Amino acid sequence: MQELELIAEADERARTYLKGIEERPPFPNKAARDGLAVFTEPLPEGGSDAVDTMRLLDTHGSQATTASNGPRYFGFVVGAALPAAAAAERLMLAWDQCASSYDNSPVAATIEKVAARWLLEILDLPRESAVGFGTSATACTLSCLSAARRSLLARQGWDFDKDGLSGAPEIKVVISGTVHVTVVKALRLLGFGISRFITAPTDAYGRIDPARLPALDDRTILCLQAGEVNTGEFDPFIPLIAAARAANAWVHVDGAFGLWARASSRKALTDGIEEADSWTTDGHKWLNTPYDGAVAICRDAEALSQAMNGDAVYATAFADAQKNLTLEFSRRARGIPIWAALRTLGRDGVAEMVDRHCDEAVWLAERLREGGLEVLNRVVLNQVLVRCGDDERTARVRQRVLDSGAGWFGNTVWQGRSAFRISFSSWRTRHEDVVRLADALVTASRL
Ligand SMILES: *Cc1c(COP(=O)(O)O)cnc(C)c1O
Repeated sequence: MQELELIAEADERARTYLKGIEERPPFPNKAARDGLAVFTEPLPEGGSDAVDTMRLLDTHGSQATTASNGPRYFGFVVGAALPAAAAAERLMLAWDQCASSYDNSPVAATIEKVAARWLLEILDLPRESAVGFGTSATACTLSCLSAARRSLLARQGWDFDKDGLSGAPEIKVVISGTVHVTVVKALRLLGFGISRFITAPTDAYGRIDPARLPALDDRTILCLQAGEVNTGEFDPFIPLIAAARAANAWVHVDGAFGLWARASSRKALTDGIEEADSWTTDGHKWLNTPYDGAVAICRDAEALSQAMNGDAVYATAFADAQKNLTLEFSRRARGIPIWAALRTLGRDGVAEMVDRHCDEAVWLAERLREGGLEVLNRVVLNQVLVRCGDDERTARVRQRVLDSGAGWFGNTVWQGRSAFRISFSSWRTRHEDVVRLADALVTASRL
C-alpha cells in the first residue's frame, strides 16, 4: 500500500475510534485485555506490509485502550485531547520537525515563541520569564530545579557546570509534607538525597503552615504546590514566598494541573504565586492537549537557558531556542498543540472549561454528601475525595461503579484513610456524565 493510502486508512480508523469514544467503557473489559496477547510476538526476521501492522494495532489495540479521551474518565486529573490540539498534532506528524531551534524548524520556533508569550499572559506570570516546552511536569520540574541549584551555587561563587557537586556548598531543599512524588523524583535524580529533604509541616487541608515553615536561607530551594494531588489545595503563597524572598531562597511551584486555576475565576487561590522564581505546569492535564506536553517557566531566563544549554559546535542557537530550555536536544514541537488549544479556546474558553470542572466537583460533592457518602476534602478546585464507611467498603463501592461503566477513577490514601479520588479535567465531560456518576456512586454505596 502507498503511503497516502496507509495514512488515509489510519485516519479513517482514528475517526471511527473517536466516533465511539462516548460509548467506550472507561476501562477495557477482560476480553479486550486478553486480546492483547496477539502483540506478544517474536521480533520478526523479515519486514512486512505496513498496513498489516496498522490494522493489528487498531483491531486489538483500540479495544484495549483506557477511554481517557472520553467523557467518563475521572482518573489522575489527565484531561482528554481537545480537537484543535489533536488536529495540530496530526499535522505535525506529517511535518516531522526536529524542533530544537529556528535553524532546525522556523515554523516550530516561531509558534512555540507565541505559545510561550500567551502562556505567560494567561497564567499571569512575569513576562520576562523563559518558557521551555518539555515532555512532562516531571521533566520540567527537573529543568527548573537544576536552574535553581546552579543559580544558588553561582551566588555562592561556585561554578556548578565546571566543578560539579563535589565540595560544593550544600543546597538545602524544603518540601511540603504533601509533595508530589514527581518532585521527589526530580530532586532525587539531581542528587538531593531523600533523607536530607527538610519537610515543612502542613495544616489540616494539606497546605504548608507558614507558622511552622522551617528556616530558609540563600542556599535553600523551597518547593511549593498549586493543586495538591488529592485535595486540589494550594499552599498559602503570599506569606511563604515573602519568607523566602526575605531569606534570598529560591521558590519553585509545582502547578501540574492547579496552575490553571490562575486562568479562571478561581485565580485568587494562586494569589502571590507570581512572586516565585520558577513554575511547572502540564498541557496534557487540564489544558487537554495530547501527551506529552508540559511547561517549565523560569523568571530568570538566563538561569534556565544556561542550566539547560545544549549548544554544540555544529548546532549553536539563541538562548531561547527550545533545546536550550529543555532536557531534549532533538524534540517534537510540544508547544504547538498548546498554541492550538490556546488559540481556539481563547482566554474565555480556558476560564470557562476550568470553572465548569470546578463547578462540577462542587456539585458532585454536594450530591454525594446528600446521598450519605463521606467527602473528605473541602472542594476548592476539581478534586473530590470520597469514602464510604471503612476501607473495605470504600474499595467495594469503587469497584461496583467501575464495573457499571459510569466512570473510572483511582484510589488513594488521605491522612491515613483510604478513599477514592474523582478528578474533573476532561473537556468532554458533560453534566449528564456527572449525574450518571453520582447516581452510580449513591446506588453502589447502598448495596
Ligand atoms: C501529574 C502531576 C505531576 C507530574 O506530572 P507529569 O506530567 O505526569 O510528569 C506533578 N505534580 C502534580 C501535582 C501532578 O498532579
